[in-house]
Amino acid sequence: MARSRIVVPPSHLRNVAIIAHVDHGKTTLVDKLVYQSGLYRNEELDKLAGGQHGLIMDSNDLERERGITILAKNCAVAYQAADGETYRINLIDTPGHADFGGEVERVLNMASGTLLLVDAYEGPMPQTRFVLQKSLDRGLKPIVVVNKVDRPDSRPQEVVNEVFDLLVDLDAPDDVLDFQVIFASARDGWATADLANPSSNLVPLFEAIVGHVPPPDKADRAREPLQFQVTSLDYSEFVGRIAIGRVHAGVIKKRQRVAVIDHLGEVTRKNVVQLLAFEGLERVEVDEVAAGDLCAVVGMEPIEIGDTIADADEPHALPHTRVDEPTLHM
Ligand code: GDP
Repeated sequence: MARSRIVVPPSHLRNVAIIAHVDHGKTTLVDKLVYQSGLYRNEELDKLAGGQHGLIMDSNDLERERGITILAKNCAVAYQAADGETYRINLIDTPGHADFGGEVERVLNMASGTLLLVDAYEGPMPQTRFVLQKSLDRGLKPIVVVNKVDRPDSRPQEVVNEVFDLLVDLDAPDDVLDFQVIFASARDGWATADLANPSSNLVPLFEAIVGHVPPPDKADRAREPLQFQVTSLDYSEFVGRIAIGRVHAGVIKKRQRVAVIDHLGEVTRKNVVQLLAFEGLERVEVDEVAAGDLCAVVGMEPIEIGDTIADADEPHALPHTRVDEPTLHM
């Protein structure tokens, strides 16, 4: 299997779980999404992916990199959106039935949104109800994909109403009831937001994912190993060199033992002596700062601009040359 690592800033990540009844077309849809994302690759992506085809990340990679066990199949696709930006979409498989081992929960914890895939003839089936309920409990908003609209006996509008009724039954909040609908023929490889306006590819679905699934939130990123990149330096005669930058992943804490990775990849271990957060024009001492926020770190000497302050046990450097652009390895 082709393996690749697509590095994008957290803002360009979309982690989406697919909820579908068996035979409604999940396998077919994922295959087509992977295939078509390959068609929209640009040169930069080729470089990031090491020139490999397929852009598939196997579940073992994900397991290793996130340190969790995923039983389901997962894959990642890179998609260059209409806004010109390249997004990485992680498609997360969910078990098609209720289970009692917590697998549904674990899988859903990785997602920031869901694709609720429903057969345009059969409509929503009771077996997906459990997983859907769990996803709603986690505040995940579904994009409803009504699949197999090519079937002559399909009844897409009625099926949309049935999904609405199911969500009402599950006590979904108003913003969920206002769901985005995409009509699709996974078999024929196309999707559209408006049946009167057909399309010849899955771009409308890709765009719906990019536009409607939020990037991983701060809480998700805060659970990852620490990565902080030094974007500027300050100096105080009392504490010496002060590293200023942004926490890209994880949490940095006062007195924490961290790894400093320099531009040659050399790792040295240091202790965080003091942490300062920015408040208006002031710097205030704090105990911890989480992913997404800026801060100043004391105790890292002789640190340089571009260095990464990382988790002491899992030190992964951020790309040294791209100081102004936050990146995250996944
Ligand atoms: P899964 O069990 O949800 O993974 O479903 P599959 O992707 O295996 O699809 C189940 C069956 O539905 C297969 O025979 C597919 O060829 C068929 N199928 C999937 N998508 C479509 C579609 O868009 N239109 C039609 N007509 N058939 C489809």
